[in-house]
Amino acid sequence: MPSKPTNASFDVFIIGAGPAGAAAAISLREIMPDARVCIADIEKSAHFRVGESVPPPIKPFLDHLGVATAFENAAHSPAFRTLSAWGNSGLESNEFFLHAYNTGWRLDRANFDAMLKTEAIRRGTASISARAFSLAESPYGWLIDCGNTGKFSARYVIDASGHAAIVSRWLKCAPRKLDRLIGCAVFFEHQTQQPELFDKEAAVIEACHQGWWYTAAIPGHRRIAMLMTDVDIARQLSIANRSTWLHYFSLTKHIKQRIDTRFPLTQPIIFPASSRCFTGTYPPGIVAVGDAISSFDPLSSQGIVKALRSALYASYAIADYYLRNDTMGFSKYFTLMRNEFDNYSVTWQDYYRREQRWPEAPFWQRRHRMKLT
Ligand SMILES: Cc1cc2nc3c(=O)[nH]c(=O)nc-3n(C[C@H](O)[C@H](O)[C@H](O)COP(=O)(O)OP(=O)(O)OC[C@H]3O[C@@H](n4cnc5c(N)ncnc54)[C@H](O)[C@@H]3O)c2cc1C
Repeated sequence: MPSKPTNASFDVFIIGAGPAGAAAAISLREIMPDARVCIADIEKSAHFRVGESVPPPIKPFLDHLGVATAFENAAHSPAFRTLSAWGNSGLESNEFFLHAYNTGWRLDRANFDAMLKTEAIRRGTASISARAFSLAESPYGWLIDCGNTGKFSARYVIDASGHAAIVSRWLKCAPRKLDRLIGCAVFFEHQTQQPELFDKEAAVIEACHQGWWYTAAIPGHRRIAMLMTDVDIARQLSIANRSTWLHYFSLTKHIKQRIDTRFPLTQPIIFPASSRCFTGTYPPGIVAVGDAISSFDPLSSQGIVKALRSALYASYAIADYYLRNDTMGFSKYFTLMRNEFDNYSVTWQDYYRREQRWPEAPFWQRRHRMKLT
């Protein structure tokens, strides 16, 4: 029997409690302490999340959000380098000690997301477990339909729904896409996390004919291994089939050395990972953050830092409107996001062009020959 719909109104309604949504809530409550902020996310059972390697520049964002101590007390694993076989078959090391903050992290991703959400709630954000189904204009601003949980009105809506980008889709904003990348991941049990094995524990990237592989040990005695390729190539290969996945895995040079495949925790799981940016115009009062506005190739390990950064900027744009009736912040925000994506596109192509070992392979040809607009 469906529960009775409830109705409530808020100043800001955030759809999605990933890093972007939670950071937006924390920042809004900081700069607009009187504002009624609500965050909604789909009820989740225990599941495997991807997106765990974060580079050293995450540190100032954690400080700014006031979660640095909670972060340090959690069981995330420090990372000092990434290793990659890119452009040739040997492994090269990218040391983080060259960064201003010299420690990166391999996150317990579920714990990280929960920490940010807990902080948002502690600062006075209302939290509901609900899927947002649609959005309509209302005299107050916007009406968000969350099915059986109820309808909620809000002056401002933040789309923090990640790659689903539901509000952009509802508004029929077309994304600019660079590719149709997906990740096909298997999680394994992994028992060794000893300091002397840091090189074995570091995240490793290995290019191959079909795309590239990634593996990293993650907290909780787990290891992820993932083939990144294009969606059509994945279909042709039937990569979601376990024995096919293991076959291509066995062709790797460095990735296979790090994993004991006797202890898989999952079947191959597909994650969308295309690089894309929504460039359409949003109506006043609506803003998208994190992957919902733009998503970067996992190769960059920038997704989470970018999500936090965009959430902070978007919260400033909303605050300008809320506190001073100044709408300029929104146009500045969207211009910033588009410029960020343009700069990213150039780096993205430069990086893929550094790998020239498979000039005939569709995965590489597409990236090498693409004309960036
Ligand atoms: C294969 C892969 C590997 C990656 N590796 C890395 C990495 O190593 N390092 C890195 O920094 N980044 C990585 N990323 C990117 C990173 O995971 C994302 O950039 C980051 O999660 C974006 O945060 P977000 O808050 O925008 O979105 P998400 O973390 O996706 O959160 C969105 C939230 O919205 C909720 N939601 C969706 N629809 C609705 C709805 N209708 N109603 C209510 N709630 C909804 C979801 O349940 C979810 O909790 C990777 C991505 C992929 C696909």
